[in-house]
Amino acid sequence: MAGFVLTRAMGAVATPELIVRLKRSVALFPELADSPVTVGVTNARGLDGLAYPQERLIRLKLHRHKPVTHFTIGHELTHLVQTPGLGLIPSGEVQCDIWTLARHPLFLDEKPCYLTVNCDGRAWHRHAHAVRRLCQLAVTERQHNRRYIVWLRAQLNLYFNHPKPTQISLLDDQQHTPLVTLPT
Ligand SMILES: [Zn+2]
Repeated sequence: MAGFVLTRAMGAVATPELIVRLKRSVALFPELADSPVTVGVTNARGLDGLAYPQERLIRLKLHRHKPVTHFTIGHELTHLVQTPGLGLIPSGEVQCDIWTLARHPLFLDEKPCYLTVNCDGRAWHRHAHAVRRLCQLAVTERQHNRRYIVWLRAQLNLYFNHPKPTQISLLDDQQHTPLVTLPT
């Protein structure tokens, strides 16, 4: 099973909750099982985390009032599976988000950073599973379509611009005529 070690700086500040989140997340990366991932801290501005694939090292930003999300941990671990790490999946930030969301529902606890989804952070949890499903389909699509990210963006546009009738009726002003007439 995959494991991890903390840098001295991270060891001094990591909360028990973060350790649990790291354990859960790293366990979902069997590709990284042969040697431990090192987990450190970063204070880099504007970033939640950093990855150093050749050193099998990730660094996480600790915020005072919010825990490090599984998504952030998963995103940085996914970088270790890209080139110049293991090189098992395509490189790039959007690709990193796609493969992170596709990997496991644990990583749906925050809106992705680089893959554009047409909702705000608070609405994300309502769309997360649908977006994850489309990411999984995009991973399959890539087997025969090099423009799978273009394909995924089109699917996301369709999803967000044409929500299911039940979603529309929930959002619709009650004064309006129902958009779907149920058979009587
Ligand atoms: Zn990244």
